[in-house]
Amino acid sequence: RNALMWFRNDLRIRDNKALYAASMRSKVGGNNKFLVALYIVSEEEWAEHDEAPVKIDFWMRNLVTLTASLEKLGIPLVVKTAKEKTDVVKVVEEVVKGMDISHVFWSQELMVDERRRDRQVKEALLRHSGVYVEEHEDQLIVPAEDVRTKTGNPYAVFTPFYNTWCKLVESESHYLEITVTPDANPPKAKELYAEHFKTKSPSSHPHPLDVNEMKRRYPAGEDEAHARLEKFVQEKGKKYHQGRDVPHQDGTSVLSMYLNAGVLSTRQCIVAARIANKNKIQSGDDGLKTWIKELGWREFYRHILVAFPRVCMSRAFQPKTERVQWSDNNEHFQRWIEGKTGFPIVDAGMRQLKATGYMHNRLRMIVACFLVKDLLINWQQGEKYFMSTLIDGDLASNNGGWQWSASTGTDSQPYFRVFNPLLQSKRYDPKGDYIRRWVPELKMLTEQQIHEPSHALPPKEFAKLGYPKPIVDHAKAKDKYLTEFKRALALS
Ligand code: FAD
Repeated sequence: RNALMWFRNDLRIRDNKALYAASMRSKVGGNNKFLVALYIVSEEEWAEHDEAPVKIDFWMRNLVTLTASLEKLGIPLVVKTAKEKTDVVKVVEEVVKGMDISHVFWSQELMVDERRRDRQVKEALLRHSGVYVEEHEDQLIVPAEDVRTKTGNPYAVFTPFYNTWCKLVESESHYLEITVTPDANPPKAKELYAEHFKTKSPSSHPHPLDVNEMKRRYPAGEDEAHARLEKFVQEKGKKYHQGRDVPHQDGTSVLSMYLNAGVLSTRQCIVAARIANKNKIQSGDDGLKTWIKELGWREFYRHILVAFPRVCMSRAFQPKTERVQWSDNNEHFQRWIEGKTGFPIVDAGMRQLKATGYMHNRLRMIVACFLVKDLLINWQQGEKYFMSTLIDGDLASNNGGWQWSASTGTDSQPYFRVFNPLLQSKRYDPKGDYIRRWVPELKMLTEQQIHEPSHALPPKEFAKLGYPKPIVDHAKAKDKYLTEFKRALALS
């Protein structure tokens, strides 16, 4: 009997443990067995998770390249649609029955909903006699239960987590082992089960951004992802510690969308960086070790999701921060979304997001802190908007980033640390290049004027710009936020 590999957020053929195991089984099983791949389009699941249309489009484009790569290995991909998310179980069952499948492989997901769905699929399949499910842990480099404090608990602070994690990765080579998927060499699966292969992979998904520009910025496919990774570790990686905080230069890897669609694995990134860093992870080249540490943050937030599932159920990591009385000023929220707050650095970040589906990390921190601490708007509104707009939206990292910025999370900045948007602007965009790129109204201003144009220009000159005045006074807003936070935390 045959085997099925169900792809979800692991759209790659290289270094994919579940696919590797499935291919090995088919290879060893001989010529009368074949391996088929499955992808289920579930619009309801996407809507429920606020997935950004531009991100779904990126996935669909990657599904096309995945189909071609799988074909080369002799593995045909079946695409099915689940009208409602509860239909997913039925869809898998139908494929299993219709194609005489005895083994189903997939890569374990970490989120609560997905885990529940997988349990339901598993239970349904177990009712069919002789169907086995092999779930592979491939979303974390080191399994959650292996990274523990001395008392056996999960870590809730990054630095000790990272130290332990690095020790494990450096001492046990299997954590960084990369698998090479063998050719599955099946018989003519497509001819035998032709009716299942009628639907082709969707090649796109409608979204509001410039389609060609998105294809140019974020081309699909594993080859592209690996080319970018190699180029980054060989060229920019060594200067990453200096370049990562200069938003107008592309000093970061811009690989997050590939990582989150699973086109690239975190392991592949760490292995590539480690090779370039003379086999070191926590020492060696300043740039590369800093980059690896950022990938450590990605791992950390995934471990948090597993150990503290409340964070993906709309809860704050620190429950006492849920007592904060947030503002319901919708006009402020809309101004933030539109990039019309009158704070040039904040507006530049928000406009970059709207135009490209991506925002530089420094800007993500600045705009998040501004929403929460200057506008006193619930971080969950920001988290949701990011998710619905980002091409690299990822529940674990997005939630982690928002809770860090809002001082409600694991390893947060302390609540009394409030970014001053003006100082952040002068520090990270001293010449105003980034602002000029995204806020064209301010293009003609000098580096002295651009950070705070309403102060720097006479009122008449400022009015001509067509750019708004600041919607809040930072000093007053900060006081209001601190008072409210202290009250909620019962600090005063
Ligand atoms: P690089 O600087 O090249 O870093 C390499 C990789 O390391 C990234 O691709 C990413 O996978 C990981 N990484 C880097 N920084 C972080 C971090 N702080 N936390 C977790 N992983 C990190 N990242 C997402 O992938 N998806 C999100 O939805 C997301 N939302 C965020 C929201 C907020 C409020 C904040 C402050 C950060 C968020 N991040 C998110 C983290 C970070 O901003 C992005 O991963 C990074 O900007 C992606 O660009 P890059 O690939 O060039 O990163």
